[in-house]
Amino acid sequence: MKPVFMPRRIEEVWPIWERRPEAVLYAGGTDLFPSMRHGRPAPDAFICLESVSELKGVRDEGGSLVIGAGTTHAELLDDPLILEHAPILARALAVLGSPPIRHMGTIGGNVCTASPAGDTLPPLYLLGAEVEIQSVGGNRSLPMRDFILGPGRTALNSGEIVTGIRLDKAAPGCIHHFEKVGPRMALAIAVVSLAALLRVSDENRIESARLAWGSVGPTVVISDEVEAALIGRALTMHTLEGAAVLARRAVRPIDDIRAGADYRRLLAGNLILRLIEYARPAGSPGTSR
Ligand SMILES: Cc1cc2nc3c(=O)[nH]c(=O)nc-3n(C[C@H](O)[C@H](O)[C@H](O)COP(=O)(O)OP(=O)(O)OC[C@H]3O[C@@H](n4cnc5c(N)ncnc54)[C@H](O)[C@@H]3O)c2cc1C
Repeated sequence: MKPVFMPRRIEEVWPIWERRPEAVLYAGGTDLFPSMRHGRPAPDAFICLESVSELKGVRDEGGSLVIGAGTTHAELLDDPLILEHAPILARALAVLGSPPIRHMGTIGGNVCTASPAGDTLPPLYLLGAEVEIQSVGGNRSLPMRDFILGPGRTALNSGEIVTGIRLDKAAPGCIHHFEKVGPRMALAIAVVSLAALLRVSDENRIESARLAWGSVGPTVVISDEVEAALIGRALTMHTLEGAAVLARRAVRPIDDIRAGADYRRLLAGNLILRLIEYARPAGSPGTSR
C-alpha cells in the first residue's frame, strides 16, 4: 500500500513534502487515478488535499472572486457568488462529467490537468482568471494563459500548490454562453466547446464580444480577429456567418480518437451561429441574460 497523507492546513503540506519529495498531490483524484490506470507511473506516496480547509469555498474581494482550488464543481454550482458573478463558469460546470464526477472533481484539478478539453478553462480565460500558487518559499500568481503551457503541461514547479483561482466578476448585463459538443449528451469530453461573453444593445448591436474555444488547439483558443468581426455589428446571421469563417481559420485542431480536425474546425465556426438566439428585435427592453 502506498501512503496517503491527509493534511488539514496548507502549512502541514510542506513538512510532508520535505520528508517525501516524491509524493504527488491530488484533490478529487478523478484525473490522477484514471491516468494511472492508463499507464502513468504510480508515485510512492500521495498527498490528498481534500481536507485542507483554506482550499475550500469562494471569497468575494470586491471586483474579483477567489475560488479555493479544492472547491468541487458541485459546490461551485451551488455557490451564490458564482451564480451571480460568473454564470458562464456555472454553465460549463453544469455539463462537466456526471454528478459523481462533479462532487469529487475540483476546479484546481481541472486547471492543473491542463487538458485542451477542460471545461472550466474557456470561461476562466474570459473572466481574466489568475492562478494563485503557494510554496514553502512564498506566493505568486500567473494569468491562465501563462499557467497553461500545453496539453497536460503547466508552469507549476515542483513543491508548489495551486491555492486558488482569482477571476473578475463579469460586468452586469452580459450574455453568458457556454456550449460543448461531445460524442454523446451526458458524460462527454468536449470535441469542441465555445464560451462567449457578449453585450448586445437594445438596438441589437454587439457592443462587446469575448470568445474562447476548447478542444481545438493545444490550449484555449482566443481570436482578436473573430471578436473584431462581431463588435459594432448587428447581431444577425450574416454577422455570425462572417465570424464563423474567421473562427474556422483561427482554430488549430488535431485528429484524435474523439473527432477529426476538419470536423472540429467546422464545429468551431458552427457554434458561433448559436449566438443568434440572443438577437433582439430592435427596440426591445434591455434585460440581463
Ligand atoms: C468519467 C469522467 C468524466 C469526466 N468528464 C469531464 C468533463 O466533462 N469535463 C472536464 O473538464 N473534465 C472531465 N473529467 C476530468 C476531471 O474530472 C476534471 O478535470 C476534474 O476537475 C479534476 O479534478 P480533481 O480534483 O479530481 O483532480 P485530481 O485528479 O485530484 O488532480 C488532477 C491533477 O492536478 C493536480 N492537482 C490537483 N489539485 C492541485 C492543487 N491544488 N495544486 C497543484 N496540483 C493539483 C494533481 O497532482 C493531478 O496532477 C472527467 C473525468 C472522469 C473520470
